[in-house]
Amino acid sequence: MDIEKLIAIDTHTHLEVSCRNPFDNYGEDYDRAADKYFRSNRRPTMQETIDFYREKRIGFVNFTVDAETQMGRRRIPNEEIAEAAQQNSDIMIAFGSIDPHKGKMGAREARKLVEEYGVKGFKFHPTVQGFEPADKMAWPLYEVINEHHLPAVFHSGHSGIGSGMRCGGGLRLQNSNPMMLEDVAIAFPDMQIVIAHPSWPWQDEALSLAMHKPNIWIDLSGWSPKYFPPQLVQYANTLLKDRILFGSDFPMITPDRWLKDFEEAGFRDDVKPLILKRNASRLLKLDGAAPAGAPRELAGPPGPARLASDA
Ligand SMILES: [Zn+2]
Repeated sequence: MDIEKLIAIDTHTHLEVSCRNPFDNYGEDYDRAADKYFRSNRRPTMQETIDFYREKRIGFVNFTVDAETQMGRRRIPNEEIAEAAQQNSDIMIAFGSIDPHKGKMGAREARKLVEEYGVKGFKFHPTVQGFEPADKMAWPLYEVINEHHLPAVFHSGHSGIGSGMRCGGGLRLQNSNPMMLEDVAIAFPDMQIVIAHPSWPWQDEALSLAMHKPNIWIDLSGWSPKYFPPQLVQYANTLLKDRILFGSDFPMITPDRWLKDFEEAGFRDDVKPLILKRNASRLLKLDGAAPAGAPRELAGPPGPARLASDA
């Protein structure tokens, strides 16, 4: 991937339909409720997604969500995404997703995806997958990710999935409180944890955690920048400017709409390129030698003077 040729890197896009497995309609009522919540029923195929992003000259990270245990629906194969990324490496990066309930068997799959398929990170959704991030059940999976110094994206905050259904479809929002990631960040210091989305109703928890732990990043996907909480924009402009990432949550939000609203959302001109491309390039190791993680100045404890003047 030649990042100089790209206008941005979208670190958060989903594949919602498989071209390999027949559609599994189990639990389709969750889809209909999500269509209503997001006011969209667009579910493009892998090839449509690739063509769309290539035409826009936006690099993208793509994944599915394996939630077979809680949702009972057959997952989209990780290999479908990984092989597409291998064949379209100018524009696309694959992340894997493995239901943490799969324990060691899941960890074996993660290792295979990284070592044989070149998968560059993993996606988790504690609400939809039905697990608490610090549950020891997920440890074997984290160990593989940590060993390879890869990013792990965790959905955070409110979820459109289950929204408005009888008892919220039985899904627990509290699993997606970003503070639930603290023990994971301590136990796996080489795993780069990306808190996905503005974390409403826990935005301040996400900012505090990211301030405190340099292996925590935040992606801005899932919301139009028009509606970002002011403190998120403030920290993105200052203390956290090196660890904030552009993500759209395609196909629920298109990158065009996101980028248009981003221009008018109060981000500093010198910070915009970091959010759109530079930070992702460092996290995903696209610019060669630079290791993932925060730049050195942020890695140590911040001095009180810096806190007072910047925050
Ligand atoms: Zn997502």
